[in-house]
Amino acid sequence: MTVLDRRRFLELCAAAALAPAARATPRLRVVVAGAGIIGASVAWHLAKAGAEVTVIDRQGPATRASRGSFAWINATWSKQPRAYHALNQAGVAGWKRLQHELELPVRWGGSLEGIADAALEAQLVERVAEQRRWGEATRLVGPAELATLEPNVDFSALRHVVYSANDGAADPVAATRAFLAAAAVLGARVEYPCELTGVTLAAGRLTAVRTSRGDIPSDRLVLATGAAPDVARRFADWDIPQHDAPGATAVTTPMPRLVNRVLWLPGVHLHQRDDGRIVLGEEGGPPPGEAHALHLPEHPNDFPAREIALEHAGRMRASALRFLPGLPPLRFDEVRICWRAMPLDGYPVIGASPARPDVYLAVMHSGVTLAPVAGALAAQEILEGPLADAPADFRPDRKFEPTSGY
Ligand SMILES: Cc1cc2nc3c(=O)[nH]c(=O)nc-3n(C[C@H](O)[C@H](O)[C@H](O)COP(=O)(O)OP(=O)(O)OC[C@H]3O[C@@H](n4cnc5c(N)ncnc54)[C@H](O)[C@@H]3O)c2cc1C
Repeated sequence: MTVLDRRRFLELCAAAALAPAARATPRLRVVVAGAGIIGASVAWHLAKAGAEVTVIDRQGPATRASRGSFAWINATWSKQPRAYHALNQAGVAGWKRLQHELELPVRWGGSLEGIADAALEAQLVERVAEQRRWGEATRLVGPAELATLEPNVDFSALRHVVYSANDGAADPVAATRAFLAAAAVLGARVEYPCELTGVTLAAGRLTAVRTSRGDIPSDRLVLATGAAPDVARRFADWDIPQHDAPGATAVTTPMPRLVNRVLWLPGVHLHQRDDGRIVLGEEGGPPPGEAHALHLPEHPNDFPAREIALEHAGRMRASALRFLPGLPPLRFDEVRICWRAMPLDGYPVIGASPARPDVYLAVMHSGVTLAPVAGALAAQEILEGPLADAPADFRPDRKFEPTSGY
């Protein structure tokens, strides 16, 4: 895999943020389909660089994966191989760069990953060393330090805990809205509910995007449509094979501070936002069963009933209680099932459609971590053309080898 290092990515980010006067005259008209965190970041980066941007969403801002995301911002050891890790590092750096400019809601402080499985032990030391070689402040931590880092967490059932000091977690809904609000200040229009229904071409070039609210004259279309595999096929003449990857998350009502960092523990992951809400994520996918076989093919974004949502939330709380004995009874603002935008090989798809170069594809998992760098890269390429040194491994025309993840 080609490795594009963090410094090079930061150069790209800076280039994408050039003053409007330096770019795009006459202004390029771009429609961004999808107002999740990826579309919102692409839109802001484009608007900042001087493009005339319209964002459309068939439902509304952050209503799909970006609403149900656990939203851990990280470049930890599971982000393999090196090129993908470097992309995630650029994402983390992007959040740190944009946080203050856009008032993005992120809580830093690192993450603690608990390892209970003896089989992982041999790998662990090597992975931690690799993280350090790749520039991450990652290390194993012992009980005394853990008691200081997380006094309310009982780590005694774990064999090892890995501390990755560089990580954080976002409020993905608020962050999406912040990107869109900042884009709107720069003149971008945000329209919803507004569904992409077609494209109009003249002499092989895009001239307008057809939507449920009428035609929008346009020079470029960005598909930031998440877990919707048919969209690329229909509007970009290109297939992004995806696999189904649902996940459940729960968000509590605000509570007094209980945990400081992102905790990735056997059976459950959780973090507590600055607003006091605890976000819990269920480990693993849905087990086989009649109810799941009946409902999941429809790709629902809500549980069929409040009681079922609360059953999932109850299981997450029970798993968390093993490590947080002082966890009080929880009240939930939201319990969601969400579908990851998951290309078949697990890696991002970033680049123009090989079949229709006016249509740019931006579909990816770990999209919260990657939003700043994906937005900067997409804006740069849409305005200036493809970058010769962008990693080929994330282009739409690669061979998609299936992975077993999720
Ligand atoms: C349970 C779960 C946990 C996750 N945890 C993490 C994590 O810890 N860290 C991390 O970095 N990432 C995580 N992710 C992944 C991350 O949330 C996603 O990669 C990211 O939200 C994708 O954003 P998006 O904007 O591409 O997609 P979405 O948020 O799904 O947005 C796509 C939008 O496109 C719209 N759309 C689709 N078709 C059309 C159309 N025809 N016309 C108009 N609009 C259309 C939809 O309405 C939707 O709003 C998680 C995801 C899930 C589901």
